[in-house]
Amino acid sequence: IVGHLQRTTVKEYGAELLTRSHMVFELQGALDGEARHGVMVAHYQPQVDYTRGVLIGLEALVRWQHPARGMVFPNSFIPLAESTDKIYQLDMLVLAQVCRDMRAWLDAGLPVVPISLNFSRRSLLHPQVIPDLKLLLARYDIPGEMLEFEVTESQLLETVELVAPRVAEFRALGARIAVDDFGTGYSNLDAISSFPFDRLKVDRQFVNGVAASEKVAGLFHLIQGIAELFKAELLCEGLEEEADLQWLAQRGADRVQGWYFSAARTPEAIVRILTQLRDRAAHAEPLTVAQLRA
Ligand code: C2E
Ligand code: MG
Ligand code: MG
Ligand code: MG
Repeated sequence: IVGHLQRTTVKEYGAELLTRSHMVFELQGALDGEARHGVMVAHYQPQVDYTRGVLIGLEALVRWQHPARGMVFPNSFIPLAESTDKIYQLDMLVLAQVCRDMRAWLDAGLPVVPISLNFSRRSLLHPQVIPDLKLLLARYDIPGEMLEFEVTESQLLETVELVAPRVAEFRALGARIAVDDFGTGYSNLDAISSFPFDRLKVDRQFVNGVAASEKVAGLFHLIQGIAELFKAELLCEGLEEEADLQWLAQRGADRVQGWYFSAARTPEAIVRILTQLRDRAAHAEPLTVAQLRA
């Protein structure tokens, strides 16, 4: 039916509405655990310290494993989840998987690193979030220090008077707060200075091609200065090219994440990496960054 409607321009809008409402329906089904609508699974992208040659963290990135559509990426359903009030359920589902995975990895004696999760503003401000987080930390016996919550600059720095007290509650549990996609949110420095945050993630547009463009390099230096001013850790995302990596490392920006090292991988693939790390550590051989890429 949708295909037929899409052939006519007049009815095209109707077809889109049908698709959108159907997607909302399926999204709710997937969130409620109805297998015919697929499942939400977090994959993990490694974060590395290039100079030290170590894995420093993993970022959980959700994928919708859909029986008909295959793997659906978050940009095509997160906005829908945000605008239909389903985002809290989704973010908590991912948080629960992260805690479950981390507990399993700890129990298996694997060298577990902190995990970063993406949280929408709505989830951060949700009235239940702190009690729910405490419950999960207790259930899986996970120290709050092992979690970092990433909120995009534009969502975090809007109405800071609401956000700042909540950020303090997260940090009181030991969790870290990261400003995601930094440099894309038009934030003012006054808003940034309203509360402490732990990490600033440089958006990939200031990372990709930084070695070849004076303008990008200049913007990168500004962002690095802001991170220094606020004593936040800098992490560069979206790193794809060796030349950019070298440029960044020469300027002390050695915490990086990007396809150059690895895309997000399934939990099973992460277990294989952590197992290698453990076995090498037993022989006092650190896993090199080159091996991480393999
Ligand atoms: P983000 O948090 O900024 O995550 C980085 C995105 O860039 C991810 O896309 C990642 O796969 C992609 N990426 C990583 N390395 C590279 C690279 O070298 N080059 C390029 N071009 N891209 C790279 P993904 O997984 O499609 O996620 C998109 C966005 O969806 C995320 O952006 C995040 O804002 C949001 N998101 C993902 N998972 C969740 C979640 O569980 N909850 C919420 N609320 N948002 C989520
Ligand atoms: Mg992120
Ligand atoms: Mg980002
Ligand atoms: Mg993003």
